Amino acid sequence: MSTSPHLLAPPHRRVRRHLLSSADLDRTQVRAILDTAAEMHGVQQREVKKLPTLRGRTVVNLFFEDSTRTRSSFEIAGKWLSADVINISGKGSSTSKGESLRDTVLTVAAMGVDALVIRHHASGAAHQVSQWVDAHVVNAGDGTHEHPTQALLDAYTMERRLGDLEGRHVVIVGDLTHSRVVRSNLITLRTLGARVTLVAPPTLMPSGIGAWAKADGFELSHDFDAVLPTADAVMMLRVQRERMSGGFFPTPREYTVGYGLTRPRLDALMTANADAVICHPGPMNRGLEISPDAADAASSLVLDQVSAGVAVRMSVLYHLLAGNDEGEVS
Ligand code: ASP
Repeated sequence: MSTSPHLLAPPHRRVRRHLLSSADLDRTQVRAILDTAAEMHGVQQREVKKLPTLRGRTVVNLFFEDSTRTRSSFEIAGKWLSADVINISGKGSSTSKGESLRDTVLTVAAMGVDALVIRHHASGAAHQVSQWVDAHVVNAGDGTHEHPTQALLDAYTMERRLGDLEGRHVVIVGDLTHSRVVRSNLITLRTLGARVTLVAPPTLMPSGIGAWAKADGFELSHDFDAVLPTADAVMMLRVQRERMSGGFFPTPREYTVGYGLTRPRLDALMTANADAVICHPGPMNRGLEISPDAADAASSLVLDQVSAGVAVRMSVLYHLLAGNDEGEVS
């Protein structure tokens, strides 16, 4: 299979200098990224996966929080585009000797990097970093705030199975308070015209979400079973125990009974809509928010999401880094 000529040339500049929030992308920009991702996915299926597109560019993955999927997929994405990719983690760096985020970032930037992919436990960290450096900054997850490339890869994965997401009903269930995935997904899915319902126990509904839902036209529910039969896609969120300081639900068992995608709920979903799909951003708490039956079901897209993560991150790096900054939309 030959590579589409446009992947070897600079893209038409539609995407801004940084990707900090899903709100940075309008529908045309999301489309541009998803369409390029589809071509990158073709490259991913080939025996020889390298494209010369980002030769001579340097991408630094700066991760202050644990990650399996996001960090490795950004690394693979950069490498398949021929960029030089360096990984720095908070634990093994001078941050553990007390260096501030600003000093660490300025030190890395001083070496002449072209893009910084940053994950940090503080909400707003990526935005802050973008004020300090000339490099392109990609938010790979900032605290409980946003994870824009996750939302893009989720949309990409769902579209491949469901087609156009306009009017499709996506039900997002679980720990809405501590999830950064939900905010980014909500923005991207609404940008693409999907109908979205968020489901959570009252204790895990973020404050102020009612006003946002009213203004933006998405729905809220505490009753998973009532919403389930109308879903085209059910996205389960991880219960973020590491971010919980108090008791948000009485026991894990009670959480599962009310909000887990259990075997009976999987059956109910499939009976109502045999084409419905299941997503989870990972890592999964099997047996808590998702049963093994649901995680491994034919309708589960969990591993497709991981695979799409590489293609979508290749696309994001391509849109941010290929070519020069002239004519850039900002
Ligand atoms: N991997 C995703 C994130 O970093 C989801 C999760 O951790 O629950 O936000």
